[in-house]
Amino acid sequence: MATLEIHDLHVSVETETGSTEILRGVDLTVKQGETHAIMGPNGSGKSTLAYSLAGHPKYTVTGGSVTLDGEDVLEMSVDERARAGVFLAMQYPVEVPGVSVSNFLRTSATAIRGEAPRLRTWVKEVKEAMARLEMDPAFAERNVNEGFSGGEKKRHEILQLELLRPKVAILDETDSGLDIDALRIVSEGVNRVRETGEVGTLLITHYTRILRYIKPDHVHVFAGGKIVRSGGAELADQLEAEGYEQYTKGAAS
Ligand code: ADP
Ligand code: MG
Ligand code: MG
Repeated sequence: MATLEIHDLHVSVETETGSTEILRGVDLTVKQGETHAIMGPNGSGKSTLAYSLAGHPKYTVTGGSVTLDGEDVLEMSVDERARAGVFLAMQYPVEVPGVSVSNFLRTSATAIRGEAPRLRTWVKEVKEAMARLEMDPAFAERNVNEGFSGGEKKRHEILQLELLRPKVAILDETDSGLDIDALRIVSEGVNRVRETGEVGTLLITHYTRILRYIKPDHVHVFAGGKIVRSGGAELADQLEAEGYEQYTKGAAS
């Protein structure tokens, strides 16, 4: 069973004025089949956690450990992490000019599976996944994220999730900027992958509304670069009612 273990993770980011510590001792264990919601105010370091797990070069790990099934994730390159089964749906997906969605997906699947998927079954797989996400087939020939609307970008992230089948899915504000229909469609995609029981999901969000569609097993409040409280789904309801203020007071920002 795949398990992601984060222990006392400290991460700094380099800026013009020097190095600033953003993550200040994150502890979290995500097992296959579990869904953990990470909720917190803007600027608390949620995306920094997501990027650090994916291996973004801007973030320097200064302490702690991250393992996937006992393997040291922090020692791995970005590619190796993806092959090991770590998937990141970015808060702000980047444009890849000159690369079509179709090519991008096939290249990613080839890299992750270690061999090119058979063309015939692959084309069918992509078509069906796109249909489930209510995406126009013509979308496959557009360049990755170029001129995509907010909703299209997020659907494209979930399309990757459905096709690449990672062990750990980190979804960074996949709900932001979505209208109510897109939110439902995207959430249904996450739930389909989740229901396979094969993925551990880290659902990072600022708002509780996505949790109406995706029921987390655990909810963590993130403030000042670490988890300050953990609970079950009821913690999200409490946050909805009370906000983050009680957690941000006194927290270094
Ligand atoms: P969240 O996702 O919770 O809104 P972030 O991880 O994006 O929080 O940001 C946490 C803090 O780290 C913020 O103060 C932000 O300005 C800073 N930060 C994050 N990434 C960078 C970066 N690449 N360069 C400079 N500062 C950064
Ligand atoms: Mg933010
Ligand atoms: Mg963020």
